[in-house]
Amino acid sequence: MNDTHASALDRESGEAYFRDALGLLPISIVMLGERGQMLMVNPQTARLFGYECDELIGKPVELLVPALHVDSHVPVRAGLLASQASGDRTALHELSARRNNGTEFQVEIGLNAFHFNDDSVTLAFIIDRTERYELERNRRDLAHLTRVSTVGQLASSLAHELNQPLTAILSNVQAAQRFLAADPIDLAEVREILNDIVQDDYRASEVIRRIRAVVKKGDLEVVSLDLAGIIRDVVMLVRSDAIVRGTRVTLDIEDDLPPVSGDKVQLQQVMLNLLLNAFDAMNDVPPVDRVVSVTLRHESKNMVCIAISDRGHGLTADKLDKIFKPFFTSKPQGLGLGLSISRTIIGMHRGRLWAENNIDRGATFFVALPVGNAMEQDESRERP
Ligand code: ADP
Repeated sequence: MNDTHASALDRESGEAYFRDALGLLPISIVMLGERGQMLMVNPQTARLFGYECDELIGKPVELLVPALHVDSHVPVRAGLLASQASGDRTALHELSARRNNGTEFQVEIGLNAFHFNDDSVTLAFIIDRTERYELERNRRDLAHLTRVSTVGQLASSLAHELNQPLTAILSNVQAAQRFLAADPIDLAEVREILNDIVQDDYRASEVIRRIRAVVKKGDLEVVSLDLAGIIRDVVMLVRSDAIVRGTRVTLDIEDDLPPVSGDKVQLQQVMLNLLLNAFDAMNDVPPVDRVVSVTLRHESKNMVCIAISDRGHGLTADKLDKIFKPFFTSKPQGLGLGLSISRTIIGMHRGRLWAENNIDRGATFFVALPVGNAMEQDESRERP
């Protein structure tokens, strides 16, 4: 046996070993050629995607993962491995994958380039993330549902608030009709009436804007936020509910606070939940005592803190932590999700949410948030 023959055999058995080894590994692995064509596919991959191994050999990898599109002029290593350009060989890419039957699912893909038999190849490790993605989606749907149901609690008082400008518009239009029937027409009066109608229309659309802003579902938008503006907006949203319940809300906001970075809708959800909880806690106290005070001030150089303080029944020692657990509720119609979701949201904003009993009566809920751009590195998520 000459040397060339021996090394060809070595190579063949080396390849066979390699193929067997890939078959034994418990995850899906695909070996890609320079142009993204599949050179080797282990049985786990074929099973995951609903193909036979042979069917995949030679086909472009984008058949399985459309986002791994390889420009025919750009070698796969250059085209796909942006993560390696940044020096991170183990970075995982979260991408959408497609099965043979057309259904899509989420995967995580790690790409590693190396030399195999003098060829430049890339090993793609594919991890099925369906379950994690479903869990995440359930969590998001739940948070959104809770938000919609919280706003639902406000429905009757919001309908009332909306009804006021609409009634005013109607009676102004009727008055204008009367003026127009007169001879001569008092144009100055008609002009004034039209101005009133425009103002009432603005009032109605403000109510609708505030509702829509909270129930919105969409991409998480991490931006620089004026927390004071968010607090004022939510206080306006619950204003008519507070009036119906005979509750006063006082605001004390420190001037010139730095912005925080975060998602407006999520932070509004937290505020809304804490305010409505405070109202609920005071259902049984005499109306004169039904006051919720909201303050916003610096907690330290890098943190701001919102405090929502009520004069309600307060929290027994065992409840101080329990109330943040999912499904803990003391209300007949409660879901018991508001505080646990709020804590998750504040955690995502790198902040803290906790409760303390007041010295005299009632409880105070604190939300501490970092100023600046603490959350901006996690931007690519979806809002609940
Ligand atoms: P829900 O409002 O649906 O019960 P939450 O998670 O928002 O769900 O609240 C959980 C529980 O925490 C409430 O049922 C109540 O017992 C308690 N709680 C919340 N806020 C207050 C408060 N301000 N004062 C006293 N207890 C409160």
